[in-house]
Amino acid sequence: MSNEANPFESLQQQIHQAATELDVDDDVINRLSNPERVLELNLSVELDDGTIDVVEAYRAQFNGDRGPYKGGIRYHPGVTRAEVKALSGWMVYKCAAVNVPYGGGKGGIKIDPAEYSESELERLTRAYAKELRPLVGESRDIPAPDVNTGQREMNWFKDTYETLEGRTEPGVVTGKAIESGGSRGRVEATGRSVMLVVREAFEEFDWDIEDATVAVQGFGNAGSIAARLLDELGANVVAATDSRSGVYSEDGLDVAAAKAHKSKTGALSGFDGATEEISSEELLTMDVDVLIPAALENAIDGDVAEEVSADLIAEAANGPLTPEADKVLAERDIYVIPDILANAGGVIVSYFEWVQNRQRFSWTEQRVNDELERYITEAFDAMIEAYEQQEVATLRIAMYTVALKRVMRAAEEGGIWP
Ligand code: GLU
Repeated sequence: MSNEANPFESLQQQIHQAATELDVDDDVINRLSNPERVLELNLSVELDDGTIDVVEAYRAQFNGDRGPYKGGIRYHPGVTRAEVKALSGWMVYKCAAVNVPYGGGKGGIKIDPAEYSESELERLTRAYAKELRPLVGESRDIPAPDVNTGQREMNWFKDTYETLEGRTEPGVVTGKAIESGGSRGRVEATGRSVMLVVREAFEEFDWDIEDATVAVQGFGNAGSIAARLLDELGANVVAATDSRSGVYSEDGLDVAAAKAHKSKTGALSGFDGATEEISSEELLTMDVDVLIPAALENAIDGDVAEEVSADLIAEAANGPLTPEADKVLAERDIYVIPDILANAGGVIVSYFEWVQNRQRFSWTEQRVNDELERYITEAFDAMIEAYEQQEVATLRIAMYTVALKRVMRAAEEGGIWP
């Protein structure tokens, strides 16, 4: 993976490119391309052996003009202030792109969770929730899962918040387990939106999804579920990698069996349904129809982009392409469905979870999936319309123009106070 691009600078470039198309004043763009606030913490946590660990943690609240700040919390050794700022900004434009009534935020704890026991992770999550308590709430800032966090961490977060507040407020965080107030369909939602945008793109370009070949970099929640749903749609998932290993089969992988193997052994490596073991670099340049980067930022830089052989890239991760990669791919006529649309299923179903929490009424999975499809196809159509009408270079710029207009309108209507 290349680390050449600073994710926060990538975000700012993306906003500026869209702003150029829309002819926006610099002062407005300055305001909408920097976070409103960033909380930086050093959390002390007692380890099982009685020693104390001090770990770096953040929460960035980027923009709240369209609603409460919204966005996940990641646990990863690569977490930095710049990364959290970028991720919180991408949330603003993601929520605006798919038109859910939120601003954007993001949090992170700089740890490798594999090095901590479950009880240490619980203490750490509760320490983080305690520090965030004055800033979050169902009408203030609503965390959710992200890389290496899931229902378990969200349940701890909610419990800590509710205990300290002395009342129930399940909508303070989304991505919870069903019994703790979660929504049906939330776990699958990110992968489902990736599948939906690929389906829509194939329809738009008049391509046939049946037997289209797919390669997926990153086999966590988003990547593995996108792979499964694309397989169900008739596509042929031939390659997948995780952070340590990768597998390939010309005839297609049995996605469910590959996932089961990874859950059991911790890695894709050694999966007996594959004919070859491959690296992540090999996967990214493989001759497939659809490439799905579903891992971390900067997976595809300008050099890798020169070698990409896919016709379509759907960004399941946040920020997997550098701005240089975008340029190269546009010149090479390779379509990229941007992260702020492709992976928006997660936050869309988070929104449904929050609505259900506030109404104390739960939806069926069918209703969740139908509504998700409606939000994604409407946003996809808005992106294509902007792409055609404004004749912009990439689908990303098109989607950003749609989102930026919405954020700008809300910012203008609210004005500046005091
Ligand atoms: N972490 C996910 C994202 O990057 C989901 C955020 C949410 O549900 O609030 O979109």
